[in-house]
Amino acid sequence: MNVREGGIEVEVPEQEGDAIIDDVFFNPVQELNRDLTVAVLRTYRDREPRAEYYLDAMAASGIRGVRAAANDWNVTCADIDPDAIELCRENFERNDLPGEAVHRNANALMHEEVFDVVDIDPFGTPIPFADAAFANTRDLVCVTATDTAPLCGAHFHSGVRKYSAVPRNTDYHAEMGVRILLSALARTAARYDKGVTPLLTHATSHYVRTYLELDEGATTANGAIDELGHLYHCEDCLHRDHEYGLIADPPETCPACEGNRVLTAGPVWLGPTHDADFVDVVRENVTEEMGTAKKANKLLTQLSGELHRPTHYDQHRLCKEWTRSASGMDEFLERLRDAGYDASRTHYGGTTFKTPASVAEIRAATRP
Ligand SMILES: [Zn+2]
Repeated sequence: MNVREGGIEVEVPEQEGDAIIDDVFFNPVQELNRDLTVAVLRTYRDREPRAEYYLDAMAASGIRGVRAAANDWNVTCADIDPDAIELCRENFERNDLPGEAVHRNANALMHEEVFDVVDIDPFGTPIPFADAAFANTRDLVCVTATDTAPLCGAHFHSGVRKYSAVPRNTDYHAEMGVRILLSALARTAARYDKGVTPLLTHATSHYVRTYLELDEGATTANGAIDELGHLYHCEDCLHRDHEYGLIADPPETCPACEGNRVLTAGPVWLGPTHDADFVDVVRENVTEEMGTAKKANKLLTQLSGELHRPTHYDQHRLCKEWTRSASGMDEFLERLRDAGYDASRTHYGGTTFKTPASVAEIRAATRP
């Protein structure tokens, strides 16, 4: 069947019903992901004019690569499935765009050839491809992870194995996933003396997506490692603290309620997960031909305004804890600000917010 997306048209295999979600060739749920990728590539071109070569390491139908080619990137699509590569070639031709499609193991290709931007969009964890991507990419590594249950601690042992970190299942699970993933990627890049700077990161219930700018050198790699640390989370009262450094030193009891159910997660990435100035320009590069333009705009506006705090709160979860009825988000956040605390909504959910205030401070400040 034919699919039109972002001003190009590609052929993808016929699919039926719900199978569409998991299909390796074309995933319509990922259109937002692809629209944002194009907007990021446009933005990154201005930031680093030298950047030219883009690799889609798991190309499938090639739709993302064809869209990058339509935006003047010099594109290579790679896949281990020969049928996928045949489809990629057809789709470049159909759109009369230049682009190479290579039947190759992604890791082998990334070790042999150097690209400016590499896109790792596998089904499941991206970790098996991270070493090759960070060892050789020049400027930007784009990563999707769809294994949200291991990342957020819901599948604990799998998360520990894949990410060499301890994830914990908390009320900010999607953000736990983001910070566990960024931690593992930052540590991978550091092995090759490269520092990562997250330019844009977003999470949905289905995946985490991040765009990491690379800087070569031991000093910047050390700088990225300095952004790692641990979260101490009280399961009784939801109080949480964070501490920088690779060695955890958790409190024995919760400093807020003196309970002894304090969970330690980490090492997690404690630093910023986006660059607000970059995100604002990405928003300007979301254009009308994109099918998810409205959604993308909303997401980018939320991201840009998000405070840089390592965890977020959920008003409904807190109110349940306090046996209090929830209020409107605007009103709730206004009360926090009136009490002198910074506060922002987050993209993690309609009732989520960030603030430097502690649970006890939030409770006192927002009492109706
Ligand atoms: Zn507590």
